[in-house]
Order: sequence, then C-alpha cells, then structure tokens
Amino acid sequence: MTTSRVVDDIIDLYARKGDASYGEGVSMTDHGLQAALLAEQEGHGAPLVVAALLHDIGHLLHDLPEDIADKGIDSQHESLASAWLSQYFPQEVSEPVRLHVAAKRFLCATVAGYFADLSPASVQSLELQGGPMNAAESRAFKAEPFMGQALKLRRWDDQAKVAGLKTPDFGHYKPAIAAALKR
Ligand code: FE
Repeated sequence: MTTSRVVDDIIDLYARKGDASYGEGVSMTDHGLQAALLAEQEGHGAPLVVAALLHDIGHLLHDLPEDIADKGIDSQHESLASAWLSQYFPQEVSEPVRLHVAAKRFLCATVAGYFADLSPASVQSLELQGGPMNAAESRAFKAEPFMGQALKLRRWDDQAKVAGLKTPDFGHYKPAIAAALKR
C-alpha cells in the first residue's frame, strides 16, 4: 500500500465506523480526537499524537458487537491495533498502543488512587483484562522500552471521555498521520 493510501484508509475507516459509541457519552472518533488533542497540547510529536488518535483502532478493525464487554469477552483490541499499525508505523506509534491496556493494569497496581478514578466501563474491562498487575507483571512492564509513552497514552485515554468537548476534526491530523508513517 502506498503511504497516501494508508492515510486515506484510516480516515475512511473512522468516517465509516467512528460514530460507533465508545460508551460514556462519546463516539470512537471523539474519544481518539480528545486523546490526540491532549497529546498535542502537551507538545508531543507526530508519533505519540498519532498513537493517541488511533489507540482504539482495534475496536474499529474487528467486527465484534459494541457491547462485547457486557458479554464478558475481552476483545484484546490493543493487540489487533498494534499488529495492524506496525505494518505501516514505527514502534513509536504501535508500542504505546499495544501497551495501553497493560498500562492501566500497571497503574492500578502501583499508583494509589488511580483505580478509584477509573470510569465504570474501565473498571468493568479491567476485570476482563486480568485486573491489576502482580509484582512480576509490573517488573516486566517497567522493562518495556515504550513504557513511558504507554503511561502517557493511558492518562490521555482516561481523560478522553468528555461528552460534547470541541476538538479539531479528524482531517486536522492527516499531516501527523502521514509524518508518522514508516519511511
Ligand atoms: Fe481508549
């Protein structure tokens, strides 16, 4: 696939499926846009902004029903997303995405008060994702080269649930997506 084709395919995917509900009053597209905006506002470059924008692309790539967590199934959207993204983007994009669920499990295990601030849907999915990390899992997570980026992405993910928040539209990120692609 040519690079412009990848950018267009991503924009097309969000145009077709991004209106699906993320839950908590925002759509999948809103959720990604809010996360990307937080990354941008903190001054990060294209790779981390794009990781934030596309971190839940796994939910759009598979065709499982939207209420899948209610059925007690972990869709493992982070694995699907990072596998797909790693075809076109470097690890600076795909690795924080792959680790964003692990980051939640890590923060629950290591940061007092983090769990208490999770949204109800995040608490529900946490259980399916394995709950807070144990000591060995936390050690392994800390050894991940992209753990710092994954923790940042996780915090944006947790905040990107504001119903009605104004953000730039998806097209605003087209240059960043193109810039972040593998050379
Ligand atoms: Fe998310």
